[in-house]
Amino acid sequence: MSDFIEVVSDDFPEIFFIHGNRNARYPYSNSMLFKDILIDTGISNQYIRRLKKEHKITKVLLSHWHEDHISGNYRLKNSEFFCHKNDQKIIENTELMYEYYNIKDSPIEEQFQEGMSIFNLRDTKITDNFENDELIKIDEDLCLKVLHTPGHTAGHCSFLETNSKIAFLADIDLSSFPFYGGIDSDLIKLEKSLEKLLECNLEIVATGHKGIFRDKNKIQQAIMSYQDIIKKRDKRILDQLSERSPTKTEQLKKLNLIYKKYGMFEDYEHIAEMVMINKHFEKLLKEKRVIFEDGGYILS
Ligand SMILES: [Zn+2]
Ligand SMILES: [Zn+2]
Repeated sequence: MSDFIEVVSDDFPEIFFIHGNRNARYPYSNSMLFKDILIDTGISNQYIRRLKKEHKITKVLLSHWHEDHISGNYRLKNSEFFCHKNDQKIIENTELMYEYYNIKDSPIEEQFQEGMSIFNLRDTKITDNFENDELIKIDEDLCLKVLHTPGHTAGHCSFLETNSKIAFLADIDLSSFPFYGGIDSDLIKLEKSLEKLLECNLEIVATGHKGIFRDKNKIQQAIMSYQDIIKKRDKRILDQLSERSPTKTEQLKKLNLIYKKYGMFEDYEHIAEMVMINKHFEKLLKEKRVIFEDGGYILS
């Protein structure tokens, strides 16, 4: 077996964690294989080719529409593809990504397109959708439960194998950088999804960009740390506001409120940061911690 394919538990020899290329750092991501069902295809072209040689893949479940999770779809032409209905139209028409990343008609659209060209993205026809709580029976030993965990994208899903209790959380990746910078992202829903995962008492977890977490307590801890990062961002944003004069989102540009350091994709990061700050404001308004007045936000 190739070195990037790992059996997760000796008791379940047909559940594999597939390490994405280069430690699954963007532009790559991890996958999981449950017998002949693959979740996500962003491990790298070369890895997909090698995986196909060793394993039959009849179905592909896509956790969400992001390019780093669907880039290998076109190498699996003989498989059927499934996703949540909320993400279907972008997977079927990847041109829509520019709109969903909020860069359509912006000065960086061309630069962004160039960056995306490395993925060689093709549109994927979705055979059918899966829904929250749907059970996908694989065989006597394996059954996947779909957990709709929106927030990162509207259709983002996690998957729990009900016998082994092994879960794949995709881009609720338990890294240090929760992302909700798409126009279909929703921070209120992401926080609900995290609460839902805490309630699942997960025992073994893998994510799209991190390795395997094997200890119940460590998993709870990792989810709570993820929640904390969001709370710290709330605080950094609130610290910029006053009780009297309204602050507009544009005034919070380039202040490193979300990205601690802007990197290689700085121009895009400024756009994503503004989208994410607005997601915080939506949530803070709902929690009545801020008030919208004269086109800006004040502390309540
Ligand atoms: Zn993603
Ligand atoms: Zn990802």
